[in-house]
Amino acid sequence: MSGASDKRILLTNDIPIKDFGSVKTIFINDYLSRDGYKALEKTIKELKAGDIIEEVKRSGLRGRGGAGFLAGQKWELAAKGPAEERYLCCNAAEGEPGTLKDRCLIRSNPHQLIEGIIIASYAIGANKSFIYINKGYKEEIAALERALKEAKERGYIGEKILGSNFSLDINIKECPDKYIAGEETAMLEAIEGREAKPRQKPPFFPAVKGLYGRPTVANNTETLSNIPHIILKGGEWFSKIGSQNSPGTMLFTLTGDINKPGVYELPLGTTVRELINNCGGGVKNGAGLKAVFPAGPSGAPIAESQLDVPLDFESLKEAGSGLGCAAVTVIGNSKCIVNTAAGFSRFFMEGSCGQCPACQMGTVKIYRLLQKIEDGRGEIKDLAEIEETCGLLENEKVYCHLLRGAILSVKGAVKGFRTEFEAHINNKRCPQKADD
Ligand code: SF4
Repeated sequence: MSGASDKRILLTNDIPIKDFGSVKTIFINDYLSRDGYKALEKTIKELKAGDIIEEVKRSGLRGRGGAGFLAGQKWELAAKGPAEERYLCCNAAEGEPGTLKDRCLIRSNPHQLIEGIIIASYAIGANKSFIYINKGYKEEIAALERALKEAKERGYIGEKILGSNFSLDINIKECPDKYIAGEETAMLEAIEGREAKPRQKPPFFPAVKGLYGRPTVANNTETLSNIPHIILKGGEWFSKIGSQNSPGTMLFTLTGDINKPGVYELPLGTTVRELINNCGGGVKNGAGLKAVFPAGPSGAPIAESQLDVPLDFESLKEAGSGLGCAAVTVIGNSKCIVNTAAGFSRFFMEGSCGQCPACQMGTVKIYRLLQKIEDGRGEIKDLAEIEETCGLLENEKVYCHLLRGAILSVKGAVKGFRTEFEAHINNKRCPQKADD
């Protein structure tokens, strides 16, 4: 990458998926030789909790878990709550197809995350933190356990950190390898010892009423991994990377019909075309591009004509899609969009936890309609029924965003690729198969 790569934070090296197994973990001595824990030393020796929050606000850092909420504002809200018992929860749960970035971050540099957690805990006045991670991520859990032990031995975690009055305990909490377990309030439920299912809302903000009813900051792994860099180099430095309203870099997990699938760090605002061509080596087998789902199954697709859209929160929203956690999924011309939409729809139907009738029944209905079209039994009126169902479901009050994700990808696929859906129905089979 030219230009764009000059402005990277280097949270981790770019990792093509084929090389994932050989990623080496940076442990304490390596981390210290790269200015590791210097931001924590600066925090403890020079800064007050409020200074840290101001610096993070100045950076404009937005959450990297999907919602894109301003991290500094979230911290400020929690820090204003009752002083006794506040919590910091790092959400490292990944369950959506095409997500891998948090796993990469932990596997390659667990101390960077731990340092971010300690600084964030200091800023909000939390003495207890959790890292919530898929139980299937065995090697990453082992890397975290070793890194936590090393950090404790050096006095970065535990009682009176670096001689200050600040103490912190960090625990690992394993979660089921299910998409819904990674929802913010499902994480709180699981840490409290219950089934990992989303909580009824309100309350809407864990920062006000979270773990055990106390002020709790829930941040994504990537969000927290940015913190040591912001504290060392300054919020202003960070704010100048990326787009105006989406500063910093992002780890894009590029998968699907792409020559070099992998996790790539780029400034927010890099175009979809640059990501696909410069990092991903273009669409697989030289096939043309049909669609890109920038937010994976949770967002609407964009078409080939929109490849110069910048990958940031605002630009993708304006383009009718979204960034989510940047699980960018590429669909080549040889793939069927009906089959893709049905696959995403099935994922959400199977992932619905069943607490909200609208979600439980709505995801089944959408999937069955798509399946009917895919099987060659569809009628043109099914498209209107899909759209009408999505429209009705959009207004339903449910506990979490799963239903919304299910609606966005299907609605976007029907809207953007209607002629392909119609061809499917008219041919009573996939037109691409008909050409065989
Ligand atoms: Fe469960 Fe769906 Fe309700 Fe979310 S919206 S809590 S997944 S039933």
